[in-house]
Amino acid sequence: MATATERTTAQWQALDSAHYLHPFTDYGDLSRKGSRIITRAEGIYLWDSDGHRILDGMAGLWCVNVGYGREELVEAARRQMSELPYYNSFFQCTHPPAIELAEVLTQLSPASFNHVFFTGSGSESNDTVLRLARYYWQLRGQPQKRVFISRHNAYHGSTVAAASLGGMKPMHGQGCLPIPGIEHIEQPYYFGYQGDLGKTEFGVECALALERKILEVGVDRVAAFIAEPIQGAGGVIIPPDTYWPEVQRICDQYDILLVADEVICGFGRLGHWFGSEHYAIRPDLMPIAKGMTSGYLPMGGVLVGDRVADVVINDGKEFFHGFTYSGHPACCAVALANIELIKRDALVERVREKSGPYLARQWATLADHPLVGETRSCGLVGALELVRDKATRARFEPAGRIGTLCRDTAVNNGLVMRAVGDTMIISPPLIIDTSQIDELVALARRSLDITAEHVL
Ligand SMILES: *Cc1c(COP(=O)(O)O)cnc(C)c1O
Repeated sequence: MATATERTTAQWQALDSAHYLHPFTDYGDLSRKGSRIITRAEGIYLWDSDGHRILDGMAGLWCVNVGYGREELVEAARRQMSELPYYNSFFQCTHPPAIELAEVLTQLSPASFNHVFFTGSGSESNDTVLRLARYYWQLRGQPQKRVFISRHNAYHGSTVAAASLGGMKPMHGQGCLPIPGIEHIEQPYYFGYQGDLGKTEFGVECALALERKILEVGVDRVAAFIAEPIQGAGGVIIPPDTYWPEVQRICDQYDILLVADEVICGFGRLGHWFGSEHYAIRPDLMPIAKGMTSGYLPMGGVLVGDRVADVVINDGKEFFHGFTYSGHPACCAVALANIELIKRDALVERVREKSGPYLARQWATLADHPLVGETRSCGLVGALELVRDKATRARFEPAGRIGTLCRDTAVNNGLVMRAVGDTMIISPPLIIDTSQIDELVALARRSLDITAEHVL
């Protein structure tokens, strides 16, 4: 393999657009503009093939929680790959890294979680959730309970089941999705809400949409409600405080499974090991991925609460489900080393007590910017709403143009900040310190200033 410096940026770009079909990428744009070639990384910073340093305000894709260049993770993979690079856990086999990781994960998670199913990604985790929840109700003698209720603008991954569970309309438009048996309700997105309810009432109202949907579909047909504690890819949508308690009440009252998609919120992002703890909710299933290995190797899983695990295990039948790479030894070893680092550096506590509150204060200073209609953050995720008119919250037309401009401006100025329509979002590595948060916020302000020169 050529090292990064053996080809010029232009050569890499030409080869890239000639052969590589990128995920989530407009291919026309890619061949016109060429992609940015990232060649190395250290801490919270990336370097591109032209030598520019960029602060990674997104931790890769919400996953590099312990930051780049952590030798402990490299060494864990190396050691495991030389000892046992691969074996599966199908058909009554297993291996030490998978066993140990299962133990550690169930110790980290709330007391009602004592089992985990391993997958290769968040999408596979949500496919597992769909099959497992429906299987659970089959075993309980209620096979008609198979409908999943999810939310518009949710993101649960990109496989057929995960994209169907998700509420992204453009994804549904490609490939005849969603599959049958999935219903979507309104998301708790207060900034985007046009009505006249206060935030508190709006939170309750969004939760009540779940109750209405359950009654519409029929309690005897609903298997589960699935939601991210905070919607990530949908635009860092932080629900009003009144939302989750009401959702929990409804799930309890109608006896439907609650699935908290922890793929982003898990592993410290909100200042707890799981986002569910931040909101004091009691899910039955928790799909995980991303921060589980800090992205050093691909891995996911589903933490399975006792309610479901007891039925599935005690039934004694085979669950016909699994992946060649379920519990991959090298991925498990990296996950274990990653969790060890998160503990050793006290990253979860640091986010909760120090960097989260500090980011909240500094991020909020951007609210005075003429383009910014709202700032919000929780732990180490944050968002800025770009508006044409702060008073009326009127957006720019066409939607998404200014977000893209701001994103491109930011990366050209040394900051990865993502745009979801006209919402700018951040999710930096959990190792970011206070002076680096200052740097992030200063770069964001500069990007906003330059963007404003183009549009105001
Ligand atoms: C990224 C993400 C997924 C999908 O994970 P992949 O590893 O990309 O398949 C699922 N759920 C949430 C909340 C995510 O952010």
